[in-house]
Amino acid sequence: MGKDKITTVVPCFNEEAVVELFYEAVCRVAEQMKEQAEFEILFVDDGSTDRTLERIRALRSRDSRVCFLSFSRNFGKEAAMYAGLEHATGDYVAVIDADLQHPPELLIPMYQSICSGDYDSAAARRTTRKGESRLRSFVSKRFYRVLARLSKIEVVDGEVDYRLMSRKMVNAVLQMSEKNRFTKGIFSWVGFRTKWIPYENVERAAGTTKWSLWKLLKYSMEGIIGYSTAPLMLVSLIGVLFCIVAFVAILYIVIKTLIWGDPVGGWPSLACMLLGTSGIQLFCMGILGQYLGKTYLEVKNRPIYLAAIVEMNDQTEKEKEKGNSEA
Ligand code: UDP
Ligand code: MG
Repeated sequence: MGKDKITTVVPCFNEEAVVELFYEAVCRVAEQMKEQAEFEILFVDDGSTDRTLERIRALRSRDSRVCFLSFSRNFGKEAAMYAGLEHATGDYVAVIDADLQHPPELLIPMYQSICSGDYDSAAARRTTRKGESRLRSFVSKRFYRVLARLSKIEVVDGEVDYRLMSRKMVNAVLQMSEKNRFTKGIFSWVGFRTKWIPYENVERAAGTTKWSLWKLLKYSMEGIIGYSTAPLMLVSLIGVLFCIVAFVAILYIVIKTLIWGDPVGGWPSLACMLLGTSGIQLFCMGILGQYLGKTYLEVKNRPIYLAAIVEMNDQTEKEKEKGNSEA
């Protein structure tokens, strides 16, 4: 029986400081696993503006196991992971960060768990959040709890985007070709049995994080809007609640007028109610707008990413042409 092939998909956005360190770490793991598996190291350059691409090219000229795609601009990590999964040729495919926060040594137990036949994927789960601000861990814990309540999407506490998948699962993930991608949700949605492998959080080897608070906020919205229609339900509930309040108020005023007559007054309370209700209406329209906006982008059916350069090993001429014309 031939050896298995493991592809590591590595999204890189301005990672010139760590690309080589990462490569060396994976090579050490590949060396340890050489009896069972051969490696394909697939870098996805997500429109870096530094020398990341140059570094990757240099690695490819040294080592034919290194392949890469380079996007025409920055499309985001989710798009980079999708592109990587699409081009990966391995029997098993891992997604892993370039900054060495995802220890490549974990690939060994991950591979073993899948090979045992009981699992289709093995994912890493960090048990500590060392080096992360208190506020950030608190907010993200809360967020995943809310998401689980609203959407039946289970994101395991400490889950990171680091997992090894069988070909079966990779194909399932690729079938989900939605444009608004929330990969943790996708992994949970496709199901399959996952083995969780705990590890201690590691700080970035070098370089800086690409996540701003704003990006994280947008990412969480993506999660909720993409996997749950509960906010729409909330809008309807608020509507019903307001109708009931209005109905009771009308009854009260009519009866009061019939019994005691109607001295004109109370316009300040009226003004407050008007402001309050129109505020809530706008808020609800905003929620509807979020869904409409997502639908609009989805309907446009734009590609998830555009690759300017594709350098894979067993690439057919046709694919090469496609890669070049995609830009
Ligand atoms: N990344 C990417 N495109 C982006 C942002 C990030 O491909 O627009 C990559 C980045 O190069 C890294 C991984 O995604 O390999 C995780 O990013 P980062 O380390 O900045 O996130 P953190 O670990 O702080 O959550
Ligand atoms: Mg990181």
